[in-house]
Amino acid sequence: MSNSSESLEPLRVSLSPQERFEEYLQTRGLRQTNQRKFLIEAVFEEHDHFDADELIDRLPRRGEQNYVSSATVYRTLREFVDAGLLKSFQLDGRTVYELDYGYPQHDHLYCTACRKLIEFQSDALMSIRDQVATEKGFRVSGHRMIIQGICSNCGKQRRKKRKQDLV
Ligand SMILES: [Zn+2]
Ligand SMILES: [Zn+2]
Repeated sequence: MSNSSESLEPLRVSLSPQERFEEYLQTRGLRQTNQRKFLIEAVFEEHDHFDADELIDRLPRRGEQNYVSSATVYRTLREFVDAGLLKSFQLDGRTVYELDYGYPQHDHLYCTACRKLIEFQSDALMSIRDQVATEKGFRVSGHRMIIQGICSNCGKQRRKKRKQDLV
């Protein structure tokens, strides 16, 4: 589900993801391990949306160097979320992860045909959100908007196919 061409500009952060995670581990009394280090590198290579199985597909296989068991991947992803490095959300019954640390707040368009997530930022949306919250006396801590539909690529292909069907 790579979409680096549609990623937003990363934010400047004072600590690297590794340093930030080390702080988290210290506060929890957990040990840094080579597996955790390796997984941070693998996850922070590029901004992406992925589920655990898609990540596991990209990682070394059993018997190869840097192999990490699926159970460890699942557990470490939860640690990354807990540490504020990743965000997770439910989509079509899957848990989708994406980089959060050093990455700006944004919303998504979700193509139900190719499962691509397209990111966008909208000031208008933010001001509607804040206005609604103010009206209700509500203090906002965050929001998630996922607009579902068909992306332009899949739309084109469908039109092409329809034309072919008509011939
Ligand atoms: Zn699509
Ligand atoms: Zn995103």
